[in-house]
Amino acid sequence: MTYAIPAPPTYTLTIAGSDELFPVHRVFCVGRNYAAHAREMGKDPDREAPFFFMKPACAVVPANETAIDISYPPMTANFHHEIELVVTIGKGGKDIPEAKALEHVHGYAVGLDMTRRDLQLEARDKGRPWEFGKSFTQSAPIGPISTVADIGHLSSATISLTVNDQGRQSSDIDKLIWSVAESIAYLSRYETLVPGDVIMTGTPEGVNAVVPGDVMHGHIDGLADIVVRIAK
Ligand code: MN
Repeated sequence: MTYAIPAPPTYTLTIAGSDELFPVHRVFCVGRNYAAHAREMGKDPDREAPFFFMKPACAVVPANETAIDISYPPMTANFHHEIELVVTIGKGGKDIPEAKALEHVHGYAVGLDMTRRDLQLEARDKGRPWEFGKSFTQSAPIGPISTVADIGHLSSATISLTVNDQGRQSSDIDKLIWSVAESIAYLSRYETLVPGDVIMTGTPEGVNAVVPGDVMHGHIDGLADIVVRIAK
């Protein structure tokens, strides 16, 4: 079998302590999953049903502790960082019960949901899709995956981001409004999950802009740090 055009690449993430790669299928992102972030975005943080948006696989950039560069994207003047706990799915399923949801997790990583905030808010306020604000190439730098086989599951862990060594975001993943298990169970009612799916679980408060030359350092206790520079 031959393709009529060059086949698109498989986008991958690295795995801590392994030469194997994690092939990315889809990236699902949970919106407003920390109360203090919902408030800073001008929204009521009451526990309404979770909502999701997506990024394409080409959003993923494998990051690590030695600075990698991402491009400053076009058509924005307000490019924001959102530090997030990332979940990789190793076993597919639909209508997954919450009590079994963690069995579908392959591993965890530190990630950034990079956002063209001006475009996202304009779309939000006009009732339009968020794609141009959220779903673009290199909008999801993600660090090495720590597998469940190696580290088990995370329930409480500091999550933080500095920019040029100045604190910007700091919280704990135990403040997630919808837990990892609840998010997987909810999502799997709408879409059959498959191995290779990735879930970004939402960001805590403190989102803000970065400019070319800025260096972001993302951390979650127990996972590999990431350092990501905005290219000049
Ligand atoms: Mn986010």
